Amino acid sequence: MRRRHRAATVTMLACATTLTGGLAASTAHAAEPLPESGGTYRISSHAGGALQWDSPQNGAGVRVKDWNENLTEQTWAVTDTGNGNWTVKVPHTNNAVDRDLGDNSVGAWNYIGRPNQQWWLQNLPNSRAWLLHSTDRTGGDTCLTRLPDLRTAVRPCDTADTAQQWNLDKTTAPAPGPAVPVTVQMVDTGGYDPAALRSWIDRNTGLLQDQYAKIQQFMTGGAYRVKPNIHVVFDAGFDAFKSPAVLAAFEPNGRYNNEKSLVIRPSHVMNNPGDVGVLVHELTHQVQDAANGGWLNEGQADYLRKYVYNVKEKPGLAQIRGADYNRGYDPTAYMLNYIAHKHPLGEAVIQKINNEVRRQYFDADGDRVLTTITGKSGRQWWTEMWNDIQSSPTKWTNPAFRD
Ligand SMILES: [Zn+2]
Repeated sequence: MRRRHRAATVTMLACATTLTGGLAASTAHAAEPLPESGGTYRISSHAGGALQWDSPQNGAGVRVKDWNENLTEQTWAVTDTGNGNWTVKVPHTNNAVDRDLGDNSVGAWNYIGRPNQQWWLQNLPNSRAWLLHSTDRTGGDTCLTRLPDLRTAVRPCDTADTAQQWNLDKTTAPAPGPAVPVTVQMVDTGGYDPAALRSWIDRNTGLLQDQYAKIQQFMTGGAYRVKPNIHVVFDAGFDAFKSPAVLAAFEPNGRYNNEKSLVIRPSHVMNNPGDVGVLVHELTHQVQDAANGGWLNEGQADYLRKYVYNVKEKPGLAQIRGADYNRGYDPTAYMLNYIAHKHPLGEAVIQKINNEVRRQYFDADGDRVLTTITGKSGRQWWTEMWNDIQSSPTKWTNPAFRD
């Protein structure tokens, strides 16, 4: 009876083996201390990947995905409920990792103090690994298990099964490093008061510094070094601004002060002082540090801006209808979100794409990179996405990971 998932698992096996794990288990190890009750932990599987919730909603799925320290979806509040039992909850919610007593599947459900929502922890000898035993003994001693298709369930406990072995790593806020230096250059204020422009960028300097570290972590995972400072230029006469649609740009050729720079159209920020999304988009280009890649880079920069930084800017169908996958910006970002939801790597695929564009540098070609990393061309993804948008009832509705 418990084998009913098996039919669906076969095609996923290849994907499962490609998952990147979390912190490695060491061979000889003192007994692992129990978690700090109420602490936030990342829970990684010895079979690869990390435990991830789908959403903060009641009934959310609990799956194993690639270890990704950017994702709050891979953090869990672990709390001692007494008598050696623990809850594992989606942080800031009351939804606990919960075993369905009917089919032994596992999801995150509203916690009402039932034993099937509690776990007792067994640390294996000479290992960092824990087994999470279901406190509810229905059907014998069962443990939280990573299934071959990357869903989770309970299965009879087996200390030798790596799919039941989990590391618990306390999350730590990244140590605040020295602030990234931000310099400002006034070239042509376009008739605006330089003091007002200065004041605008001063108000947003903290955001630039904060986002630079976050974008770097998200887009590169540390795969290459990025420029150690940010140079902002106000230049109403910048060539690209001859096109009225261009509000800001990343200038990679060292035209100003011999530096790669963020160039801002003064009138835009004076008329739209709340539009910091343009800064986030251009800053993403600085992190990409790409020599080529064109539309794919524009799509990735808009993905970062509209699906990671501020989902309120997420495009709707109206923004992509009649466009094509290689138009950059909204259409490409929309498709990248689709890819991130359909690809076994999940959202980590965005970082893989970025690092491949950077690796190929002058030779980077958006279509080739997408095919290399995802196994499908932009044209194929775009067609599949539109089929899903138009299909019923399994319509694709463009959910963001951070909605
Ligand atoms: Zn751009």
